[in-house]
Amino acid sequence: DPQLNPNYCFENFIEGDCNRLARSAGYAVAAKPGGTSFNPLMLYGGVGLGKTHLAQAIGNEIKRTSPDKLVIYVSCEKFCQQFVDSLKNNTINDFVNFYQAMDVIIMDDVHNFAGKEKTQDIFFHVFNHLHQSGKQVILTSDKAPKDLAGLEERLLSRFKWGLSADLQVPDLETRMAILKKKMYSDGIELPGEVIEYVAHNIDNNVRELEGAMVSLLAQSTLNKKEIDLALAKSMLKNFIKNTSREISMEYIQKLVCEYFEVPVEMVKSKTRKREIVQARQISMYLAKSLTKTSLKSIGQFFGGRDHSTVIYACQTVEDLIDTDKKFKNYVQDIQKKLKMS
Ligand code: ADP
Ligand code: MG
Repeated sequence: DPQLNPNYCFENFIEGDCNRLARSAGYAVAAKPGGTSFNPLMLYGGVGLGKTHLAQAIGNEIKRTSPDKLVIYVSCEKFCQQFVDSLKNNTINDFVNFYQAMDVIIMDDVHNFAGKEKTQDIFFHVFNHLHQSGKQVILTSDKAPKDLAGLEERLLSRFKWGLSADLQVPDLETRMAILKKKMYSDGIELPGEVIEYVAHNIDNNVRELEGAMVSLLAQSTLNKKEIDLALAKSMLKNFIKNTSREISMEYIQKLVCEYFEVPVEMVKSKTRKREIVQARQISMYLAKSLTKTSLKSIGQFFGGRDHSTVIYACQTVEDLIDTDKKFKNYVQDIQKKLKMS
């Protein structure tokens, strides 16, 4: 199938918490197309998080294990265009028959159906035909079915029949693994600290992460230069636009809570448990020293406390930094993490 890109396979789709459910559901579907309750399988998530890659990996895996199966990959946009063309050319029957003859249909970016009622109508019939014949439907979308706007209710309700699995932004560890995989497949080695720097700083989506890597690898090849951290930093200036971005209180709270393994809600609560109080006071201290937020707003943010509580927290933290070495290390550790982001 010319529509499937053989480079998108399971083998090079790195697994992480961000995609574990989607990936294993995809694997199950590939092993038994039409034969699981994941029909349709809907993969959803933001741009550049691997929807197309994973959807195509399923198609490629099915073609690999059952070459006789008819698998079609089509973007929703292309499907809509083909429909309009078939109306114009009076070939609507051929159009419908073609899709209804498939064993597996992979339709990418179904949010693009929004507003296109006639095409949705046609797809509704194709969908029903395939589903009733035990054929597999795989869909991708930028939103969960319940949040998709502009789609007809009867089509949406079909989309909710099977399994919806989301793709999230990969965590640091997964981002590193993706970069390493990319590096080895290109046969070029970059120093560990460069990989770490890129993974730390590019945390929106995988496409940008790969873009940064491609740019580094290209420059390394073209200039026949070893890329060290300093060089990487200067090369990636355009990719990393947020170096001067102000750190938010939300982010401070998230990192502090992760660091001390305490739930975020606890910090905002009234509890006086020692480890919670400590996380709360350090968060306030960091908010005061790293943001331009007023004491009043800091108090508000961390559970509706007044500004004198914030002053007291900052004083306590400063005292402890002076007297308790372990405590000082904690704070410095967190500061370092905050600045890496
Ligand atoms: P989407 O369709 O969600 O916008 P893509 O599937 O086009 O995203 O993914 C963007 C890029 O990131 C592709 O080059 C893809 O191969 C890569 N990618 C995404 N997720 C992963 C992953 N888990 N492991 C390896 N590469 C990934
Ligand atoms: Mg895509």
